[in-house]
Amino acid sequence: MSRKPIVAGNWKMNTTLDEARTLAEGIAARTADVDGVELAVFPPFPWLVPVRERLGDTGVQLGAQNCYIKESGAFTGEVSPWALAGVCQMILAGHSERRHIFGESDELVGQKVDATLSAGLTSVLCVGELLDERESGDAIAVVERQLAAGLANVTTDLLQRVVIAYEPVWAIGTGVAATPNDAQEMCAAIRQWMAGKFGDDGATVRVLYGGSVSPDNAAELFGQSDVDGGLVGGASLKADSFIAIAVAAATV
Ligand code: PEP
Repeated sequence: MSRKPIVAGNWKMNTTLDEARTLAEGIAARTADVDGVELAVFPPFPWLVPVRERLGDTGVQLGAQNCYIKESGAFTGEVSPWALAGVCQMILAGHSERRHIFGESDELVGQKVDATLSAGLTSVLCVGELLDERESGDAIAVVERQLAAGLANVTTDLLQRVVIAYEPVWAIGTGVAATPNDAQEMCAAIRQWMAGKFGDDGATVRVLYGGSVSPDNAAELFGQSDVDGGLVGGASLKADSFIAIAVAAATV
């Protein structure tokens, strides 16, 4: 089964309301340039609804950058996936900044995946190794551990709402992307792991690469056989570069 590429923009803790609206309008105006690729944006929480209004019926999907694991209750400052289900289609789980700045454990990330899927949304599970883990030859083992915990309770029937984003921590926001070969090697290892756990359905789950993707390197990265598009941080904050990256995904 062919896997439709996804290019997703993680806006992180960036944009004012006006900037978010302008960025969404810029993307919405250019979606006709991109064929055969799913587009998604992940703005800060308060801009989800205004961005949704600007995206209109363009088909660009909307996602949240984080969530909590409960439906409702006394969890001050947290956001429920069930609340988000009325607003957006996707939620990130386990972005490296959540794991490494906010101390989210593999197990909590797995609970976020479960909650997201239970709420009927798509979970984009982010995995990736630190530089010293890569240098010590442990990168694949680390990613497999994150996959095992992140997908511990996921059943095959839910896989069509799972996307994996391989994001080596040392490549995020550094301007140093993984080489296409390294991205391919890890995305292939992820696919193999998915096939081992879930069979053929596991092998069809989309695996994105993230980490300093730019209009200059996108085509080579996305041209790898197991890389199904990208999760883009910095370069998603300008409509032109985000669309250029999406066009690269459409042309490989
Ligand atoms: C990210 O935040 O997921 C990311 C990949 O960031 P950047 O593209 O800036 O490295």
